[in-house]
Amino acid sequence: MTNSPNRAFIALGSNLDNPIDQVQGAFEELAQLPHTSLIGRSSLYRSAPVGRLDQPDFINAVACIETLLAPLELLHALLAIEQRHGRVRESLNAPRTLDLDILIYADLQCDDKALTLPHPRMVERGFVLKPLMEIAPECDIPGLGPIAPLSAACDDQRLKRLAIPYP
Ligand code: AMP
Repeated sequence: MTNSPNRAFIALGSNLDNPIDQVQGAFEELAQLPHTSLIGRSSLYRSAPVGRLDQPDFINAVACIETLLAPLELLHALLAIEQRHGRVRESLNAPRTLDLDILIYADLQCDDKALTLPHPRMVERGFVLKPLMEIAPECDIPGLGPIAPLSAACDDQRLKRLAIPYP
């Protein structure tokens, strides 16, 4: 636990077993995490799969939280939510019921195998940067800089914002 609240951004993704419900349910579970407040949620986005193309499109979103959980405590809490959603770790880029990644935690930069921050692949991914831009347009990604030009560089990726209200 930390002494004062830390702002963190979480990426949510799913392409199995009713992905829209998986992501909307995960927002509710983030809101219920101990010592944590959900303070922002992006729209849902539909994106093309990356790496392995023979799988359904993904539903993606980004959440903003304030938390007293330390980074590894937060990671373990997210892994527990993934487990409750029946996540099976098959192979890299395989379809999944729910993927939760910590994109940014305060201004932390670290390069451990268990936790790399900011998330190492976030700047290549429109399905992360567009929803992040929606809820935090002034965001400065630690070590990488302002989000706006990074997000603009992903404009060619297939991504659609969905007009689905919160449940
Ligand atoms: P995956 O869910 O397949 O993307 O990989 C999850 C694993 O990646 C976790 O067990 C973490 O230990 C590790 N990992 C490293 N950095 C991060 C991060 N920023 N957010 C989430 N998982 C991470």
